[in-house]
Amino acid sequence: MAKVAFLGLGVMGYPMARHLKTKGHEVTVYNRTAAKAEKWASENGGRVAKSPKKAAQEQEIVFCCVGNDDDLRQVATGPDGAFAGMERGAIFVDHTTASALVARELHAKAKDGGIGFVDAPVSGGQAGAENGMLTVMCGGDADVYGKAEPVIMSFARACRLLGGPGSGQLTKMINQICIAGLVQGLSEGIHFGKRAGLDIDAVLDVISKGAAGSWQMENRGKTMNQGKFDFGFAVDWMRKDLGICLDEARRNGAQLPVTALVDQFYAEVQKMGGRRWDTSSLIARFEG
Ligand code: NAP
Repeated sequence: MAKVAFLGLGVMGYPMARHLKTKGHEVTVYNRTAAKAEKWASENGGRVAKSPKKAAQEQEIVFCCVGNDDDLRQVATGPDGAFAGMERGAIFVDHTTASALVARELHAKAKDGGIGFVDAPVSGGQAGAENGMLTVMCGGDADVYGKAEPVIMSFARACRLLGGPGSGQLTKMINQICIAGLVQGLSEGIHFGKRAGLDIDAVLDVISKGAAGSWQMENRGKTMNQGKFDFGFAVDWMRKDLGICLDEARRNGAQLPVTALVDQFYAEVQKMGGRRWDTSSLIARFEG
């Protein structure tokens, strides 16, 4: 069993930290809004720290799941950041969806101080975090990853090292690129079916068993048909992620025409009031 800290008890971090505790690890938590950390500790036991630095002291692994690149920099390398409290040989595992650039930057800074760094964004959403069934995509050094993997598996059903620093974030970008075009296709299909006067639930039931089937169709098709979007992965987060993908594509020369278009469609959804709606709300552009 490991001595660990968890920084960032949001929608994802809160249940991820709980799984670490349930599996028997010794957990210290930090959250910017302290009340959330107190609530977590009252429900799960464990220790609360007042800063990332204090949380990170004497830990073997420091987990983190905050919003974006700047949040991550603050929590890791700010004046009260985790790196300042970590001992040589300790490992920082970052579950934030962030850029590959910040992952490489923090990997290098960590290495200077004798600390390991693994970029480890996740897929599986709130439900995956609650059920301890996340997919974790990792980048970093193999020896460091090897030590972290068994502890990460406390809240994951799959975890894999894809390459050097930044490779986890690049893999998560591919995940988001694949989702963007797929959800737009599903929106168009459902929209078309409604105009054609078909029973959409029946249509989805049958075509989900064929070549058009997907996680999005199975899990989101019926709620898209009903116009229900008050759950899941928020449009604001998706735009952050697609922005990261498009920035990276400008650097590596990849062409992402559909991703760029869908990003603009999500901007329209934001203007419709859908900033916190689930990403399946792309269909609302046709209905609104
Ligand atoms: P969230 O509920 O908004 O939680 C964000 C957490 O980060 C909160 O604990 C927040 O603290 C903390 N935080 C943000 N900025 C900070 C800063 N500058 N300093 C210290 N703490 C800071 O977000 P989430 O849904 O858990 O998502 C977290 C990350 O996972 C994001 O990168 C997201 O893209 C990714 N992700 C989310 C999902 C999903 O379905 N939600 C799925 C896959 C990946 P406060 O409580 O004080 O605000």
